[in-house]
Amino acid sequence: MSKPKKIFISIDMEGASGIVDWSQVGRDPQEYQTGRKLMVGDLNAAIEGALEAGVEEVVVSDAHGGMRNLQPEDVHEAAYLIRGSPKPLSMMEGISDEFDAALYVAYHSMNGTRNGILCHTISSSVVDAVYINGKETGEFGLNAALAGFFRVPSIFISGDVAVADEARCFVPQIHTAVVKWGVGRYAAKCLHPSRARALIKKTVKESLEDFEKIKPYEVESPVEVKLRFQTSTQADIASVLPYLERIDGKTVRGVFNNYFQAMKGLRAAISIGGTAEIR
Ligand SMILES: [Zn+2]
Repeated sequence: MSKPKKIFISIDMEGASGIVDWSQVGRDPQEYQTGRKLMVGDLNAAIEGALEAGVEEVVVSDAHGGMRNLQPEDVHEAAYLIRGSPKPLSMMEGISDEFDAALYVAYHSMNGTRNGILCHTISSSVVDAVYINGKETGEFGLNAALAGFFRVPSIFISGDVAVADEARCFVPQIHTAVVKWGVGRYAAKCLHPSRARALIKKTVKESLEDFEKIKPYEVESPVEVKLRFQTSTQADIASVLPYLERIDGKTVRGVFNNYFQAMKGLRAAISIGGTAEIR
């Protein structure tokens, strides 16, 4: 068995221990500051677990909102931090075939998930659902498929129990650190952050001990993308993209040569659809 040398961490915010509300992930200036501490606490626990497993290089991509949530000085000094937006690969900027494994910290479940804390898919005001080759896919699946495009396995996720269950639908052997149990979209029973961090550290270490047994999540080509918007106006606007076909009031569809192209096509459709004025 070889040891993992280089790992990639994509970190979102909604799935951090103790976070249950939009105010904590940016909507309220004061609550946001405490949310940032919770986020980086979970991240540093994951980095410590990786270092204990013998990893030599850790690259972290800040993947929430404006992607400048992590204060550089608060992040474990062993890691490189990719921050700012827009980034070419968005939440996964930095991923390449040089990594041994991809890990996901503080992730949330797809839009519409029962008891999924702050569940949404990319944009809660724009996207109702995304289907990749017919399978409804949230942010974890979309990002794991990008890692899979580079043949990198997705081996660890932390967040609420809903996102852990969702991740197993894409990568059955993924290691999960559950830090909260939702009782609705905006309320959960939470582990104390110290216990959540200990669990994250231990589970990351375990995941890296058998990273070679976990297969990359690869999407078959050609790739069909269906995107159902929140409103028909958003679909009206996105339909100007020449590679999209309108299939019903709120849904567009496109077929792409490979997943990398599909991801670009999807992001462009969401960006353009998102310009629709709500009236
Ligand atoms: Zn987020």
